[in-house]
Formats: sequence, C-alpha cells, structure tokens
Amino acid sequence: MTIEALNKLIIISSPSGAGKTTLCKLLLKKMKNISLSISYTSRNKRLNEINGKDYYFVTEKKFKDLKNKDYFIETAKNFNNLYGSPFSNVKIAKKNKEHLLFDIDWKGARKIRKKYNKNDILDFFILPPSKTELKKRLVKRGRDNLKDINLRLSYAINEMSHYKEYKYVLINENVHKTVNEIKKIIEYNNLITSNNLLLNKKLKKIINF
Ligand code: 5GP
Repeated sequence: MTIEALNKLIIISSPSGAGKTTLCKLLLKKMKNISLSISYTSRNKRLNEINGKDYYFVTEKKFKDLKNKDYFIETAKNFNNLYGSPFSNVKIAKKNKEHLLFDIDWKGARKIRKKYNKNDILDFFILPPSKTELKKRLVKRGRDNLKDINLRLSYAINEMSHYKEYKYVLINENVHKTVNEIKKIIEYNNLITSNNLLLNKKLKKIINF
C-alpha cells in the first residue's frame, strides 16, 4: 500500500509516563498540516477524556465486530483493553493532504510498517530521561495505585526494549524541545521528498527531450 509521497504516516510510541500525550497535543497545535488518528478502544473513558476526541470508546463486542469487518489497519491489546486504528483515518488524511499522527504502541507500529511503504512512514520512539524519572511521572500522575504503577513500570521497561525498531529515538527532557525536533524532522523529510519529486520531473523532461 502506498499513500501520496508528501503525506506521511507519523507514528509516535513511548511507554506511558514518558509524556507522550502532552507531546502529541503540542505537536498537533504547532503543525498545521497534521491530524490525529483517533483510535477505537474498549477501555473505560477517563474523567478528562472526550469520546470522539481522545478515542472512540466502544464495548468489547462492538470492537470485535468492527475488527471482523476489517475496519482496522491494526489492533493491539494493552492492559486487557483493545485498541485499534481505523482505515478511514488514512483515507481522510490522504484526501485532506495531511500528515496523520498515530499515538500507538510498538505492536501497532510494527503492523503499520508491514502494510505501508517505508517512505510513507516516519516513526519516533520517545524515551523518558531515566527510569527514576519515569516512575516519578507515573506516581505524580496519580491515576493508578501502587500495584498498577509497578505494573505499568515493568510494562514500560519491556516496551522500551523495542526502541531500535524506530527510525528516530528521542529523549524527552523538555517537551517543547522534543516537539520542535519532531517538527524539524518531518519538515526536513518533506523537503527531501519534494526535492526528489522535482528532480524526477526535471529528469523526465530531460529524458523525453
Ligand atoms: P492509554 O490507555 O493510556 O490511552 O493507552 C495505552 C497504550 O495504548 C499507549 O501506549 C497507546 O499509545 C496505545 N494505543 C492507543 N491507541 C492505540 C491503537 O489504536 N493501536 C495500538 N496498537 N496502540 C494504541
């Protein structure tokens, strides 16, 4: 499968607690030509979340029905909840000539890499500055009890072992800095692609002449 050269599928993965949600929100705010791929999930909605904005919250049955109808590019199970990225998001982004941002885990990233052309994907793995900092952030967030925090921490450490599968690995010490770096990489890659397109056009002209 391939999408238009200038619209990239941008994947951002990181263990929970590395500051990914804040980072994605800031990136969406700072870049114009990008939209978020809103996933479906069977997990319960958190207090600050909005259905249709953060996720489409559905029952497990509905999720499985959609999955059977090939509604998703990829699905994954995390902490006993199901998550999936719908194909329709790619279609819409392509139509609007926008980059599409996936806030998904390494399992989903792997599946997207298998389905799409390498040149259409820019994948980033965001690391926390240290394990101590990661634990601090998980505790500070205060969303989970100690047992859950430890579960998330060991899950995060396992997740971090997959960083090598990504083209770009960034350490998130300061969210503004990290976002600027991501933005620069996206813009730089676009420049290369558009230069190639231009070059191809010029070459074609010369050859046809
Ligand atoms: P949370 O429940 O904290 O929002 O997300 C848990 C994990 O699931 C995060 O690592 C998040 O990136 C990942 N995730 C969210 N949506 C999807 C999705 O559609 N597919 C996959 N593979 N992972 C997802």
